[in-house]
Amino acid sequence: MRRGFGPTATTDPPPPEKETDVKSFPLFFRTSGRRVTIVGGDEQAAQKARLILKTDAEILIVADRLEPELAGLVAEGRARHSRRLTPDAFAGSAFAFVATGCPGLDASVQALARAARCPVNVVDQPALCDVTTPALVDRDPVVVAIGSEGTAPVLTREIKTRLETILPQNLGSLAALAGRLRPSVEARVPRARRRAFWAWVFKGAPRTDWTQGRERAAAADIKAAIGAGGAPRDAVSGSVSLVGAGPGARDLLTLRAVERLQEADVIFYDRLVDAEVLELARRDAERVFVGKHVGAHSWPQDRINDVIVAEARKGRRVVRLKSGDPAVFGRAGEEIDAVRRAGIPVEIVPGITAASAAAAALGAPLTERGVSDTLVLTTGMARDGAPLPDCTRHAGPGTTTAFYMSVGQAGRIRDDLQAQGLGSAAPVQVVIDASKPSQQVLQCRLDALEQALADASCTGCAIILVTWPEATVPLARTA
Ligand code: SAH
Repeated sequence: MRRGFGPTATTDPPPPEKETDVKSFPLFFRTSGRRVTIVGGDEQAAQKARLILKTDAEILIVADRLEPELAGLVAEGRARHSRRLTPDAFAGSAFAFVATGCPGLDASVQALARAARCPVNVVDQPALCDVTTPALVDRDPVVVAIGSEGTAPVLTREIKTRLETILPQNLGSLAALAGRLRPSVEARVPRARRRAFWAWVFKGAPRTDWTQGRERAAAADIKAAIGAGGAPRDAVSGSVSLVGAGPGARDLLTLRAVERLQEADVIFYDRLVDAEVLELARRDAERVFVGKHVGAHSWPQDRINDVIVAEARKGRRVVRLKSGDPAVFGRAGEEIDAVRRAGIPVEIVPGITAASAAAAALGAPLTERGVSDTLVLTTGMARDGAPLPDCTRHAGPGTTTAFYMSVGQAGRIRDDLQAQGLGSAAPVQVVIDASKPSQQVLQCRLDALEQALADASCTGCAIILVTWPEATVPLARTA
């Protein structure tokens, strides 16, 4: 894995000997009370001046002659002009742009600036640059900077165009209003309600009203809420998301799952959920281990139901993080019923189920034309006290069966499949810990399944896959 600015860089820095293409670090440079020097007086210099004009920096332009726009800035008093280039032009400047239009001259000006310890950007000469200017999406005071280390300017412009269309023009003024109101929010809204307050402002009705042109109504609502000590109660009522954590590897989470983890106030998670998935949650989110796993429920289901409802009633955003897909053998129905009965909004965020991860581990499909046109997801486990399910009843020619929670039932599954006519030499595949670093694949004959699982000391986290190929179709039928 390469170093970079992705989430891995902050949570899990790889060893320093690894290579990287990143040779610059993005920063926001403070310009208040500082000077920015521009050497050059033509259009390229004017372009840089336009960028700096978005800030409150003092601008010094060093050039023999100025093109009309720059001359106008000087006439308005927005920039100073000097005809002579001396080291003083750089001493104390935050940074400098060099755009003389003459590459040879650019290089010597750059050397002069460096000698004065002033970081330089030389237009169109990346090798001479200490600083480069990113593509900007400007929603003052919200600024998105996009860079590619000079590798892909067309791509950065395309990203900029997309962001320009996503971010409404007046978004910045909402952020600016928030900035002005921050002191009164701190004075009137208790600390415990502040996160919910800002979430309501930026994700709830005020944001929608504001970006749809109803700025006055939005501002009035925000101020009323500050006066009342927090966002309206009905707006901050809690919610429950049943989020699929996928089979283990954290890059098999969906973007929506990551979003919910980052919004969550409290996360209830199972044993099968990997630690690295939990790292994606907000740092101050509460994490509660409910320890469910095959055959042993540290927390009884009723208690889980009660506690997720109770937390959501407090107005918290609850994530119930479940391995794989929450809708597959996840007892999601019981949790959804409990939350709905309490009148609390509930949603499912799907995840990658273990059978899909097992197929990926095997590099083979679960269905295949002419071999298997039916996929059965089943389990050998039953509810406490209930008789064991007849989990092989759908197996037959043309099926692939993925057995969940079935390691302890391997002997019975083998006997039942054989009784149904599958040969004892039929190939069976087992994927243990699919997608995790400990992933293991076992391939064996049907009659050796139990022994193979025992030899691998497999206790639980495994999918048993049995493909029963379609019977060869007699020629007479295809004719
Ligand atoms: N909701 C989950 C299934 C939960 S039941 C899903 O959609 O995947 C728990 C069973 O799922 C385990 O007993 C095992 O059979 C299977 N399982 C979950 N994660 C797995 C993994 N990474 N590799 C193999 N099997 C897994």
